[in-house]
Amino acid sequence: MFAQSAFRTRCACWLSVIGILLLFGGCAEEPSALERVQAEGVLRVITRNSPATYFQDRNGETGFEYELVKRLADDLGVKLQIETADNLDELFASLSKPNGPVLAAAGLVKSDGRQQHARFSLPYLEVTPQVIYRNGQQRPTRPADLIGKRILVLKGSSHAEQLQALKLELPDLVFEESAAVEVVDLLRMVDEGQIDLTLVDSNELAMNQVYFPNVRVAFDIGDEQSLAWAVAPGEDSSLLNEINAFLERAQKNGSLQRLKDRYYGHVDVLGYVGAYTFAKHLQQRLPRYEGFFRQAAQKHEVDWRLLAAMGYQESLWQPTATSKTGVRGLMMLTLRTAQAMGVADRLNPKQSIEGGAKYIAYVKSQLPESIQEPDRTWFALASYNVGGGHLEDARKLTEAEGLNPDKWLDVQKILPRLSQKQWYSKTRHGYARGGEPVHFVRNIRRYYDILTWVTQPQLEGTQVAEGSLHVPGIDKRQPNEQTPPL
Ligand code: GLU
Repeated sequence: MFAQSAFRTRCACWLSVIGILLLFGGCAEEPSALERVQAEGVLRVITRNSPATYFQDRNGETGFEYELVKRLADDLGVKLQIETADNLDELFASLSKPNGPVLAAAGLVKSDGRQQHARFSLPYLEVTPQVIYRNGQQRPTRPADLIGKRILVLKGSSHAEQLQALKLELPDLVFEESAAVEVVDLLRMVDEGQIDLTLVDSNELAMNQVYFPNVRVAFDIGDEQSLAWAVAPGEDSSLLNEINAFLERAQKNGSLQRLKDRYYGHVDVLGYVGAYTFAKHLQQRLPRYEGFFRQAAQKHEVDWRLLAAMGYQESLWQPTATSKTGVRGLMMLTLRTAQAMGVADRLNPKQSIEGGAKYIAYVKSQLPESIQEPDRTWFALASYNVGGGHLEDARKLTEAEGLNPDKWLDVQKILPRLSQKQWYSKTRHGYARGGEPVHFVRNIRRYYDILTWVTQPQLEGTQVAEGSLHVPGIDKRQPNEQTPPL
C-alpha cells in the first residue's frame, strides 16, 4: 500500500517536472515562420524586377508574381513588402539571411539544383524551357546545334543549370551567364542579333513575343517544368503549408487561371504567328499613325488604344486597305459613314482615323442610358460593326430569353441568332451576320488589352510619350550598355 502510494507520488512528481519542462521549453521555443509574419503584420517577399514578375506601372505595383503574392498577403491579413534582387544568386542567398525576406516569388523553376538552397511550394505554372533564335538565321533543332553559337542566359538560372548538365554530354558547348541582364534583355539581344541564342521559359516568351518581331522558338529543350515559390530551407513548414493551402484555393476558385490569361495569354489569343506579326506591325506600322489615333481620341473622348485596336482589326493598320464590300481605308469606313462623318478621302489615314473616332463616339452616344461601362464600350463596338438596329433586335431577343439586355456577356450569346430565320423573322430589322460583331468585339478587346499592356509606362506617374511603345519593366539604356562582355 505504502509502496504503491510512494510510487504514485514519485510519478506525480516526475509528471510535474516534465510538465514544467515542457511549459518552459514551450515558452522559450522560437515562434514559427508563420507566427512571425502574423506578429510583424508584414509578408516580406523577394522577387525579380521584370515584366513577368514585378514592376511599376502608372497605377503602381503590378506583375504576375506581385498580384498573386498580394492575394496571399491579403488572405493572411498582413501587409506586403516587396524587395527586388539584382540576380538569381542574390535572390536565393537572401532567403537564408536571418532577417531577410521569407518568401521568393520570382518565376522560379523548381529545379533539382535549387532544392538545397530552398524549399518549394506547390507548382502554380507549368513551363517549358525553350531555345530562342533570330528569324532569318539557321534554326537549331537539337542540343548539338548549340555548339559554336554565342549563347547567353541569366546567371544562376535554371537554364544555366540545364546547360551545365548538357555540357557533360557535349563538352564543346560554350555559354555565358550574366547577372546584369533580365529575360527581356536576352530576348532583345537575340532580336537585334547581339547574341545567337538564349534559353527562356515558355511563359516569359509568351508574354514578351509581342515586342520582339524577330524572336523565334528553335526547339523545346527538355521537359515541362514547374514554377513554384521558395522559402528558406529548414524544418519549419508553417508558412509553406499556409502558402500551399492558398495556392490550392487560387487554383480551385479560378483566380490563378485568370491571372495566367491576363499575363501569359497573349500568344494563346493571337496564335504564335499572330503574336510576332503583331509585334512587327507594332514596330513598323503603328508609330506612323499613333499621333493620329491620339489626336482623334482626345477630340472625341475615346481611349486612343481602343481606336488603335479597331484600326488593327479593320485593316492591320494599312491605310489603303479595301474590301469587296466597298469599305475602305485604315478604319474601313463605308462610303455612307465616311460622308456622314465628313471624310472626303477614305484612303487618307488621318481622315479615316478621325472619321472612325467620330463614328464610334456617335454610336456610343446613341446607346440606351441603361448600358453601363465597360459593357457600353463593347456594345458601341458591336453597333459600329453590325448597326444599331440589329443590335437593338438582339437586345430584345436577349430580354425575351430572360437574360440581361444591358450585359454584353448575355447579348453576345444571342447575336448569332440574327442569321437564323426562325429568329430573325421575328425581328424588326431582319437578317444580319450576327456572329460577326461577336468576333469583332472579341478581337478588338484582345488587341486593346495588348496595347494597354505594351504602352504602360515603366515608372509610376510617368506619362507615355508619343511614339514610345516599350517593354515595361526595363530601362531604356543604350544597346551597348546592355551588352554584357561575351
Ligand atoms: N525561370 C527561370 C529560372 O527559374 C528564370 C526566368 C527565365 O529565364 O525564363 O531560373
